[in-house]
Amino acid sequence: MKIKDLYSTGKLVISFELFPPKNWQGFAELYEHFSELVKCKPSYVTCTYGAGGSGGAKEAQKRTLEVLKWVKQDYSQIPLVSHLTCVNATVDDLRQYLFQVSALGIIGIVALRGDAPGNVRPFVPTPGGFRYALELVRLIKSDFPNFSVLVAGYPEKHPEAETLEEDIKHLKMKVDAGAEVVLTQLFYNNEDFYRFRDLCDREGIYVPIVPGILPVTNLSQVKRITSLCGARINETLLERLEKYPNDEEGQFLVGVYYATRQVEDLIKNGVPGVHFYVLNKSRSALYICKALCL
Ligand SMILES: Cc1cc2nc3c(=O)[nH]c(=O)nc-3n(C[C@H](O)[C@H](O)[C@H](O)COP(=O)(O)OP(=O)(O)OC[C@H]3O[C@@H](n4cnc5c(N)ncnc54)[C@H](O)[C@@H]3O)c2cc1C
Repeated sequence: MKIKDLYSTGKLVISFELFPPKNWQGFAELYEHFSELVKCKPSYVTCTYGAGGSGGAKEAQKRTLEVLKWVKQDYSQIPLVSHLTCVNATVDDLRQYLFQVSALGIIGIVALRGDAPGNVRPFVPTPGGFRYALELVRLIKSDFPNFSVLVAGYPEKHPEAETLEEDIKHLKMKVDAGAEVVLTQLFYNNEDFYRFRDLCDREGIYVPIVPGILPVTNLSQVKRITSLCGARINETLLERLEKYPNDEEGQFLVGVYYATRQVEDLIKNGVPGVHFYVLNKSRSALYICKALCL
């Protein structure tokens, strides 16, 4: 089965992105929340790899593999996709990981460059490794052709790119090399996504472009995340969140309401699926899926 085929059935594809917890307590919470998340019947689930840039390739691999193995064992019917970055990895390290996940029955890879530890820019490739995600896409397509390859796209452009147009040209190179699906960076203004989608179309990118949605659950979290990835927070959303400075539940409700409206608008505008950055929690994704009868 290929991930791209899920997007050609005409049914909205819901996917969830997990991250490897740092300790057993985080794992325990993930078990609990995941048992709720599956009620939304995700078409597939992904797990991040080494995000935050800390630790070597081996440590990143170990932690992502732990999550993938557990989901595979307890929820064998859910198709699984592993993220993989080029950070601190030689081509041999990357190959070794691809062998391991292939043996585990993982069907796809989100092929990423990743960020240097401490977000140091410009990115310096590991000796014997890759400079761009493009090279990882090429490696997977040549040596592991059974994997579905997904790549990242940036509606507000990648922070290192000079212009959105230039960034989209680089995205086109990844698609031409065999990437089948584009998952986008989170965004809070749908017009940014629509502009990106139009530009991709003009550039000749015809694979599914899937919006990445991070429902805001508290103000400090969204400020931190948007400053890290460069996404613009919506002014109305910010104003409403600031009305609840000391009220977590108030902030949660504002965030979930906003994300629900955002997703509803995206569906009306023909997106093939929605990729939720669930941050290992279930409550907001469940609310949104229920409210929109997904
Ligand atoms: C859906 C999604 C999932 C993610 N998951 C993870 C994760 O699991 N772990 C993690 O650490 N990070 C993750 N990230 C973050 C990602 O690693 C960073 O955004 C990183 O800075 C760029 O990765 P990339 O794959 O987009 O890189 P690239 O596609 O290689 O692009 C990086 C920069 O180089 C430019 N560029 C690309 N190709 C060329 C070329 N041929 N010539 C010149 N310039 C070029 C691009 O325009 C861009 O500015 C994720 C991001 C998204 C959107």
